[in-house]
Amino acid sequence: MGKPGEILLDPERVRRIRSKLLCWYEKNKRDLPWRRDRDPYKIWVSEVMLQQTRVDTVIPYYERFLKRFPTPGDLASASEEEVIKAWEGLGYYSRARNLHAAVREVVSSYGGKVPEDREAMSRLKGVGPYTAGAVLSIAYNRRVPAVDGNVMRVFSRLFTIEEDITRTAVRRRMEALATELIPEDRPGDFNQALMELGALVCVPSSPSCDRCPLVRECQAHEQGRAKDFPVKRKGKAPVPVCVVFGWIVDDEGRVLFERRPKKGLLAGLWGLPTAEMERDDPPREKLKRYCAEKGFPIEPGSVLGHVEHVFSHRRWQAVVVGGRALATDQPLPTGWRWAGEEERRSLALPKVYEKALSVIEFPLQLTMCDL
Ligand code: SF4
Repeated sequence: MGKPGEILLDPERVRRIRSKLLCWYEKNKRDLPWRRDRDPYKIWVSEVMLQQTRVDTVIPYYERFLKRFPTPGDLASASEEEVIKAWEGLGYYSRARNLHAAVREVVSSYGGKVPEDREAMSRLKGVGPYTAGAVLSIAYNRRVPAVDGNVMRVFSRLFTIEEDITRTAVRRRMEALATELIPEDRPGDFNQALMELGALVCVPSSPSCDRCPLVRECQAHEQGRAKDFPVKRKGKAPVPVCVVFGWIVDDEGRVLFERRPKKGLLAGLWGLPTAEMERDDPPREKLKRYCAEKGFPIEPGSVLGHVEHVFSHRRWQAVVVGGRALATDQPLPTGWRWAGEEERRSLALPKVYEKALSVIEFPLQLTMCDL
């Protein structure tokens, strides 16, 4: 058996896979908040949150987010700042921005109703084939595949697919395969059952074949090769980057924050003044130079701590350096602001800066004398 496109699915095998999987799902599906109704907006929010994030982490965010923005209209009329704040801590903030923009489009162009049409749904910002398939099949019972990493793993084992699953062409063939398997009457349940099997049983390193409903259908199991699948090109390790964060305070104990550039890592989010360093840059000097170049001279203080944070492509190794503004009445560079304790709490700070704040002992007691 080679390419997924070449897999021959005889009707009897299709019937067996459908009925065994759906029967197992009925008995084993987890009771998750987004499974309690079929509101397409709620399912959409859950699917976006679940990208690259574990179910247990998502649940409290999902519940809070929907309490705050219960309908597409509520989300559309919120400011970006409010949306990012509600997303704070979940990471991958472009997901929140795209969802916000897409829901605004749903409100302005579709009267607030998530489109049922696959083409229209796929044109919305940030909506890829997986998200469109999940929302349309679960909410509207449309026979559209939703092939995520879990489904690809199950398929690659069931049908011994020897190709690299990170290739778009392979994903497309898997979608074609899923489309053939999806039953007319229960597309949403079938898609969720496949994902659930991948999440609970056919897990990456040690699949529980002894309790798998598809064990008799599975070619990889039959050949004793389950762990050889899926075939995946090794991704590049995140590139280590040294940065310095400034914890710069004024006479009143306020802290300086900088809005990140509109594009790139943590785009548009608030953080501590941040400068990338060469390996041998002294952090205090680098911070001083960075602020001076922005037209805001400071006196650097001592090193307050170290933080490491891994993004998908980069690994920040940050040194947090204290500092004080040389003249607090000087104008701030564009996109910089002072924030007192209260105000700081209202800023949606990405996790890496939260980490930095937490490594600074008694940060709000720091005065200029300490620095
Ligand atoms: Fe996965 Fe094992 Fe089930 Fe095959 S039998 S689908 S490898 S859990």
